[in-house]
Amino acid sequence: MNIILLGAPGSGKGTQATRIAEKYSLTHISTGDIFRENIKNQTGLGIIAKTYIDEGHLVPDDLTIRMVEERLSRPDCANGVLLDGFPRTISQAEALEKFAKIDYVINLEVSADRIVKRVIGRRSCLACGGTFHIDFIGDTKVCPTCGKELYHRADDNEETVTERLAVYNAQTRPLADFYLGKGLLVNIDGDKDIEDIFGDIVKAVEND
Ligand code: AMP
Repeated sequence: MNIILLGAPGSGKGTQATRIAEKYSLTHISTGDIFRENIKNQTGLGIIAKTYIDEGHLVPDDLTIRMVEERLSRPDCANGVLLDGFPRTISQAEALEKFAKIDYVINLEVSADRIVKRVIGRRSCLACGGTFHIDFIGDTKVCPTCGKELYHRADDNEETVTERLAVYNAQTRPLADFYLGKGLLVNIDGDKDIEDIFGDIVKAVEND
């Protein structure tokens, strides 16, 4: 089973992605995490991607598509993947159709006014991919899940989030209609509690 998780920055995509991947034994592929890993290791891809990510813009389609196609060709993807943050444009979605068959597209819908607050207060762990909000964890620098270091993403500031949201509305939101037309879209209310959202996702997948 291959699942795409769609949602604006701060919609809780990462949190739900981890849970869905674990429940259905899917390989969790987050393009944002792959870019961040490349930036940390200062690879050629990372150096190029950083210039776009720091501005809140999308990394160009050709680079992103090649990176995902290569990642999906690895053996750990053979039994199914959870795509988190890809596709983000219609071109990426069209390219993806050529190298993967998608079973569900889960669209997390969150009210716009919650998003900026969620993202600015977000702390992330590069080691386990976990994300947490300072309202719940305070100002600790230690990941509550794995004990490694937590950090505040450079693109999780008000100015960049505003730009990322504008990019989302212009380039990624149209994917909901794209997948609705293909009968793959499942809309989920992302304003509920984490557990309730996860329950709704499981129900949607299992009652299909
Ligand atoms: P995320 O961790 O999903 O919020 O992604 C962080 C940033 O990485 C985004 O704001 C983009 O700059 C870049 N990025 C992640 N996924 C994609 C994608 N599918 N296409 C283009 N850029 C991406």
